[in-house]
Amino acid sequence: MTTVATPNSTLVAEVARRRTFAIISHPDAGKTTLTEKLLLYAGAIELAGAVRGRKSERAVVSDWMDIERERGISVTSAAVEFDIGEHHLTLLDTPGHKDFSEDTYRTLFAVDGVVMVIDAAKGIETQTRKLFEVCKLRRLPVLTFINKLDQPSRDPFDLLDEIERVLGIHAVPMNWPIGSGDRFRGVFDLENAIVHFYERKGRAQEAPVQVSSAHDPRLAALLGQEPWQHLIDETSLVSGAGTSFDHQAYLDFKHTPVFFGSALSNFGLEPFLKALTDLAPPPRARLSDQGMIPPESPHFSGFVFKIQANMNRRHRDRVAFLRVCSGVFEKDMVITNARQGAEIRASRPYRFFGGNRETIERAYPGDVVGLVNPGQFGIGDTLYHGFALKYPAIPRFPAEHFGIARLRDVRFKQFDDGIRQLEEEGLMQVLYPTVGRREPILGTVGPLQLEVLKARLENEYNVVCDVDSLPYKAARWVVGPSDKIAAISASTAGTRSASDREGRPMILFESEWALEYCERNNPGVQLLAVMP
Ligand code: GDP
Repeated sequence: MTTVATPNSTLVAEVARRRTFAIISHPDAGKTTLTEKLLLYAGAIELAGAVRGRKSERAVVSDWMDIERERGISVTSAAVEFDIGEHHLTLLDTPGHKDFSEDTYRTLFAVDGVVMVIDAAKGIETQTRKLFEVCKLRRLPVLTFINKLDQPSRDPFDLLDEIERVLGIHAVPMNWPIGSGDRFRGVFDLENAIVHFYERKGRAQEAPVQVSSAHDPRLAALLGQEPWQHLIDETSLVSGAGTSFDHQAYLDFKHTPVFFGSALSNFGLEPFLKALTDLAPPPRARLSDQGMIPPESPHFSGFVFKIQANMNRRHRDRVAFLRVCSGVFEKDMVITNARQGAEIRASRPYRFFGGNRETIERAYPGDVVGLVNPGQFGIGDTLYHGFALKYPAIPRFPAEHFGIARLRDVRFKQFDDGIRQLEEEGLMQVLYPTVGRREPILGTVGPLQLEVLKARLENEYNVVCDVDSLPYKAARWVVGPSDKIAAISASTAGTRSASDREGRPMILFESEWALEYCERNNPGVQLLAVMP
């Protein structure tokens, strides 16, 4: 007898209440502060203890590695899960530092929506713009939080205009700031006509006030004549502009709802969280080689978006982070890795919270599961049960900084293990020169990663080495007839041929000029910046 698989009602309900998202921003815009405050609000962490401190004494839950603490930046991405009311949220941490953007790109493949934090004094900065481009590529709905309104800020119209102009998306204000900096009084909820007052330190909390509209004369007494008039003028301009928030347009990447507030002073977070749970999308259908796979499909599927070695010194293991895309994942399930067809029993699935781990029995679409990984998984691997399929690979970016690691002792085995495992994590790429000295060349997207590599080899593998930098500035995968590929490095000064771990040919270039020259003079081959 054949049974027709129908989605079970628990799965449907679990999918509907899930929100899996990441926060993107330029460094210092307030991403960490907002993360902490969201977690505090959700009761996921306690004020004292787990999350405290800033750059100098930082011990944020998701910033758990020594190197991160030393440098005060978030180097690796971790996921935290928490409940708000009926909703189950998973926040994937994205490192803000520009050197770690490749890690961030991968993380953005694993989320369903994004929060963009902008510093109200600075507007759109370079890193925000780059990350936004990835969101655009993936059509990820974006909620915008304009932060630090307690400090002197740019004109709100100017900020909205910049979002539209630079990012090419309609910015629809959901609330409107009343003053800024010393004269910041609070925000006006445009849809519901409620004034939320900002309290300066030591002042008693003022309850929000419901008014009839921005024209309500009670506002004169509450705000003062001049700020009131200003509010009337500005909100009239906003409504005159005629773009009101449209939920479908937000889901279709045409609108971004904009909230003004201040993460540090807890101002404007509640409406923002409400927007996150009410507006942000639950897991959606994903494209696979078998067509679109809805999350409610009865068959489990997911993909690995991150691998992290040595999460916990005591355990000394590697963890593959799996984003569940469809069906129910269960402990001890036999899952297949679509890349090699290998079956694996998922006997140790974990949920991580900072340095702590907890075994889980079950996970639903949108959830992130940590699988202890003795080398079976690679970034981008599809895992499934019951219905064979493959999700598209996560693109890799070519390295821009190169070096050679020179061992200072004789721990060759540890060195090789370390290099292999850290490459599996995606920390760097290892390139093998095809002519001349065969020492592997290490390539990273940012220069800081070479230092991280050195520190991690020392801390985690007890290998002391120096990393000498090499003069290359770019690398490209090269596709074409092998004789033509072989001829390139001989005929172009400032190049070197190599191959990656999978044996795919690559060319290293000492300058942009050499790259352009090579492209012009070798029409028969393709130089690829992204390996799909
Ligand atoms: P990240 O680099 O984006 O994670 O930024 P952080 O959250 O570390 O914040 C950078 C700096 O801005 C820190 O000194 C924060 O205390 C400060 N900051 C964050 N939010 C606010 C805010 O709402 N108002 C003010 N005045 N400072 C803030």
